[in-house]
Amino acid sequence: MKTLHNITRTIFIPTLLVMSVGSVSAAEPVWDANKVTLVSEKLADGVYAYYSSEAKAKEVKGLPVATSGGFVIGSDGVLLIDTMLNERLNKQVQQLVREVTDKPIRHAVNTSFHGDHSYGNMYLPAATNIIQHVNAKAYIDQHFKADTEFMMQNFGKGRGIEQIVPTTGDTLIPESGKLTIDLGGKVVQIIDFGFAQTGGDLFVWEPQSKTLWAGNPIITVKPSLPWLLDGHLLETLATLNKVYDFLPEDAKVIPGHGSMMSKQDIKWHIDYLATVKEQVQSAIDQGLTLAQTVAKVTMPKFTGYALFGWVHPALNVPAAYKDLNKLK
Ligand SMILES: [Zn+2]
Repeated sequence: MKTLHNITRTIFIPTLLVMSVGSVSAAEPVWDANKVTLVSEKLADGVYAYYSSEAKAKEVKGLPVATSGGFVIGSDGVLLIDTMLNERLNKQVQQLVREVTDKPIRHAVNTSFHGDHSYGNMYLPAATNIIQHVNAKAYIDQHFKADTEFMMQNFGKGRGIEQIVPTTGDTLIPESGKLTIDLGGKVVQIIDFGFAQTGGDLFVWEPQSKTLWAGNPIITVKPSLPWLLDGHLLETLATLNKVYDFLPEDAKVIPGHGSMMSKQDIKWHIDYLATVKEQVQSAIDQGLTLAQTVAKVTMPKFTGYALFGWVHPALNVPAAYKDLNKLK
């Protein structure tokens, strides 16, 4: 899996660079970590989401939005969900915590190894218990340098990525694992629902307020789409269905890159992947090549995402083609 990971990234980097920036000049990242301002939103007593101040305006238009996360406060301390790309943004998150509590940050969860969710680990107080999926730590241990190069290509140089030193988990969640943390009057569950984007994906659930942090497997509301960066269409679809079934109807969902959404909003992503599966399978059944499949499976019902021109034809359809061909 690690090898596949690296290969996939290498293949997709040039495409990402060309397509993801759209009409913007090629040197510009899709969002600028030197400019983003994070805001927090109280979801319940001791339960907060944080996201870009521009999230609500941009997400509905399908424009890329900076990383989101949150924090949960118990009587004993704070658990942080995701630590951001660089020092500047990590310090903003710590400031948002300080604005509502003086309790120590005891735990920080990374929903994946992706740098915009985990590079900020190094800026947390040294005593913070970093919680990662065992596969996320393994990826960072083996591929950190290549990963920072990939991130600099996409988020730009001079965005604080040069300063990052790998800071991996103190507590590791195994495959299919689940960890419950009692923060004092507030219990948080950290769950591996299965392969969701990287094979080291963690979801965070606060049952009292029914809040789920999803990380990148759910980018944000429609018209954003999943990124099958590491392939695995079938597993990703199965995992999102599992997450959907887990959630009560009135759950609050904090996605990887947007503001709070509902359980029903996840349907869009599931419907998209199910349609990719159906149409790519039908192309394979007709004996079409990958290029013919990409040309045929255009799925105009699912356009609107600014990155559609890259994520659908260059990433997701080829990933599906490869995954479904394995079944033959
Ligand atoms: Zn992300």
